[in-house]
Order: sequence, then C-alpha cells, then structure tokens
Amino acid sequence: MTMPHPSGSTPHRPGHHWACPAALAALLLAACSTTPLPPWPARPAPAPAPQPQRGVVVPPPAAPAPRPGVVLAPLPPPAPAPAPAPAPAAQPIPMPPPPQAGTLLDLPYSDAVAARFPEPHTRYNTPGLADNRRAFTTNAEIDQWLDRLAQAPLNSGTTARVLRLGPSQRGTPISALVLTRARDTDPETLLSSRRPTVLLIGQQHGDEPAGSEALLVVAEELAHGLLEPLLDKINVIIVPRANPDGADAGTRTTANGVDMHRDHLLLATPETRAIAALTRDYRPTLVLDAHEYPAAGPFVQQYQALARHDALLQYATTGNLHEFVTKSSREWYHDPMVRALKEQNLSADWYHTPSTRADAPGMAMGSVQPDASRNTHGLKNAVSLEVKTRGAGMGRTHLQRRVHTHITAIGSALRSTAERASSLEQVRSFAARETIAQACRDKAVVLAAQTPEQREVTLLDPVTGADKTLRVDWNSSLTLRPLVQRARPCGYWLAPEAGAAVERLRLLGLQVLRVAETGSLLADTYQDTPQQATGARAPLALQRSAIDVPAGSYYVPLNQTLANLAVAALEPDTPHSYYSHQLIDRLQDTARVMATPSLVFEDIQ
Ligand SMILES: [Zn+2]
Repeated sequence: MTMPHPSGSTPHRPGHHWACPAALAALLLAACSTTPLPPWPARPAPAPAPQPQRGVVVPPPAAPAPRPGVVLAPLPPPAPAPAPAPAPAAQPIPMPPPPQAGTLLDLPYSDAVAARFPEPHTRYNTPGLADNRRAFTTNAEIDQWLDRLAQAPLNSGTTARVLRLGPSQRGTPISALVLTRARDTDPETLLSSRRPTVLLIGQQHGDEPAGSEALLVVAEELAHGLLEPLLDKINVIIVPRANPDGADAGTRTTANGVDMHRDHLLLATPETRAIAALTRDYRPTLVLDAHEYPAAGPFVQQYQALARHDALLQYATTGNLHEFVTKSSREWYHDPMVRALKEQNLSADWYHTPSTRADAPGMAMGSVQPDASRNTHGLKNAVSLEVKTRGAGMGRTHLQRRVHTHITAIGSALRSTAERASSLEQVRSFAARETIAQACRDKAVVLAAQTPEQREVTLLDPVTGADKTLRVDWNSSLTLRPLVQRARPCGYWLAPEAGAAVERLRLLGLQVLRVAETGSLLADTYQDTPQQATGARAPLALQRSAIDVPAGSYYVPLNQTLANLAVAALEPDTPHSYYSHQLIDRLQDTARVMATPSLVFEDIQ
C-alpha cells in the first residue's frame, strides 16, 4: 500500500453540532456495566512449530505440545428474537419523505409501518444528512471531511492522518483515517503501541449509504468529540467508503460488476486489494463492516411482510475459525451490542434473509464461505462483525434512524475493544499459536454448510405495521456442518506457474517460500473425479506419493498464523478456491505436503 501522507484540501466545518448533546453523551459514553465472563480455562498456548528459514534445510518439527484437555463449554443456542418494541404512542410523528419511485417494489409502506420507526432524539450532521439534501455525501466530500479532521489541531496527543489506499477502478481515491495516541500512524508504530487497532469499513456495497454517513460522524467524535477518550485504549482506522464507484453510481457492485464483499479471498478488484493491504499491514484486532439490508424485496415476495429489525448482526461463521475468536465475538461484542441497541429502542436480530435455495427453504443467515469479508477477516484471527441496518433500497427513508443504529452499534464495539484490550490480545495470540501448532496434524474443514433449524422470526404486517411472528425453517450459520474435511497438511506445494496465486496469498499476509533447489516431497495430489450426470462433483480423491519439485516452485507452510486462509484458497474443490477461479490452472499445480519438507528455500522479493 502507499505510504500515508497528509493531504491538502480546504478545511471544512460542519454547520452545527448535536441538537441533543446530553442524549448523545448518554448513548456514546454510557457507563458500560461489564458483564464478566466465566473465567476462561487457563490452558497453555502450545509452542509454535519452527518456521522455515531462508537458505536452510528445514528440520522435522519439534514434538508438538500436548493439546490441552480443557474444553470450552458449548455455546448456548441462538438467542430468541428480541421481543418487539411496543407500538409507539399515538402522537404526531414527523413522517419520513416518500421513498423514491420504484425503490420499494410497489410496496404498501403505510404510515402505520413508518410510525414503527420514529426519528431518533439525536440528529446527526454530515454533508449527506443536511436538510433538503437529496444526494448522500459525495466521494469528494468524504475526502474533505477526513482531511479536515486530520489537519485540525487535536487534543490529548491524538495523531490523525489520512491514508490513500489506492484508486478505485474509476480512479477515485479510497481513503482511510487513522486515529491514534501513538506518535505516528505507520503500521510499525501502531503495532508497538500496545493498543488494539480497530478497522471500521463502510459501504462495500455502493447502494447502502447509512454506514458511510455514520462513519463520518464516528470519525468526528473520535477526533475531538465524545468518543475521543477511547483512544487512550485503542487505535482506530476508518474506511468510510470502500466502494466509491458503486456509491457514485448507486450500485451494489464495483465498477466492473463484482460484489466486493465476496472478493476478500480472491482479491480480484483493486478495492478489495486495498483493504487486504491495509489489514496485512495494520493487523486489526476488530474489523467491523457496516452494511444495510432491504426491508422489502425478498421479505415481501416470500412472506408478504416487511422486515422488522433496525439492525441485523452476524460475526464470522466459517470453517476453521478458532473457538476463542468465536466465543469472544459473541460474548464480548454481539451480546453487548444487542443490549446497547435495545437501550436506544432499536431492535436487533441475527442476520437473516429469505433463502433463494430450493434445497434450503426458509430464512438463511449470512454466508459460511470463507470468501465473504466477515469470514476472511475472522480467519485472520480478528473479531469480525457485520452490522446491517434496515435501509437498502429505501432512499432517505428513516435515514437518521439508520445512521443512529450504526453509531450505536459501532460505539458499543469500540467500547468493547477498549474494555477488553488485554484479553483480546491474549485470545488473538493464543489463537495464532494454536493455529501454527496444528500444522501436519488435526483436521481442516474444506467445505461447510449451515445447519437447518426451526425458529421464530418477527416481521411486520405491511398495512397495519403490527408484528407478524412466523415459525420458519432457519438455516443457521452459528452451527456449522462440515461437508468435506481433510487431514491438515504441513503445507501446500505450488507449481512455478502458480505465481498469480502466490501474489494473492502474500497480499493476504501469508508467508510463501520459493524452492531454491530441486528436491522431493511426500505429498497428496488431487485426482480428478468424473462429473456426475447431475452436474455435481464429488470431492476430489487424494493419492499419496513422493513427488519431485523443481527450483522456482513454491511452498506455503501451514505453521503460520494465517494458515486457515491458505486452506480456504488452495483446497481446489470448493466454489471459492483459487483453482475454481482459474488463478491456478491445473490440478497438478497444487499438492498437499504431508511431511515437513527438507528443502532449501529462498525468500520471494
Ligand atoms: Zn451490504
């Protein structure tokens, strides 16, 4: 990524500040009654396996540390949907502006429905939230906003700097604001600051504007507002708009039609590459991704109802996530976030959307595949949260409330990080070391699916606005069903022709070594299986043998922190693999290395 540099545009002042500072203070700085977790079992972290060094013959690994015997208590079943808020008292409520024509699919969005979503007491101000404004904050206005914050004198030793992460496909800068009490904003200084770094990402989907507007408010409040004291405990990086081209065009995708939210493993777009370089360099402890979801659309089509909840939430849910990362996501972030929203009379539930799959009818939670932003970041051992507000396709309807919902959720996540800074570092370190120690043993999940359940979901009657509670088939991402598991290799060998894949793996932060001298390896190679009449393919068969490997080929060791990203990218028979996406051309260009190699390696420059 390019080095940060202060930019030089004209400072811009917002028109005015909070209409209701007392209410906002209560929201942002609510004394957090920390709910203590039951003490986590004190199991020792295993010793890391040796890392291959440049120019040395790798010795066999030391005897692995015994896997500690203490097992975490199983997670509780999914919480029931929160009780619906009582219908607001009959009092005059300012009605939102009518939705743009066609955006609600001819939905009967009655006054009674709108009355369920009153304006928040706090009124927020960004360029895009100004009265009588039709457009959301433009890309240029976002840069002006961030530049103004970075250039203004800040108190208490705060350093703020704008990073230009790179241009979008249409040449618009993708900008980030770093806020820290450290003396500088480069990755090394932040990593040595002994404070966890939080990465907040907005608007990967260009037609979901509320997250972006909310992140501008959060940036302002961290720079010199009510959130500023949190910088004593955390560093924060804010990318208000990850997809500026999509925002400009009002489309979900990037300029070339890619859903970048699903591109964080493949890295086919400059937009995801910018985020990958940022996370590789700054190694955030928490990644929060701000989205919106449609209240109508599929809910109307399948249930003749509207979505009910202000916020739908989900943390990383994919195979090979460390159990402690999952547990801390739920107990330290998700549960307090639900409570914080409830205190603001905002309702929340697990993310769900009417399923479009005939084999999995009902409601589906968010993806369990590792290429989704939330899951890729989880496999980097970060707590990874997705917050979606009820607003996609709704124009400016309920916009202040959508922004308020994001700010409430983000404020909760920032406080959780500040309160748990040292515990989070322990979890992260433990997860990393245990991942390293799993190389050459244990199993790896190659492909997983959601678990079918039944559950009650609360929707809204589109005419009366009353709650409409249904019992539905529910495809849960909180419990994974492994479909394909394989013995975890020591690493993956890649042919010299796999340079494009190697470049992506390194951008994800993985260490890749080049074979300096021809040698041989004990490896499982993939055997193609015939396509069945149904078009379905069985998992590939494996065949073990000694294989000769030439100088110039590659080795991706799994005794490294990000090993599970390599599993996600390199097991070929999945929809998200580099082989399925032609980054690796031939099956014989990949092999699973089943004994620690004795090869001479060299660094890749
Ligand atoms: Zn989205």
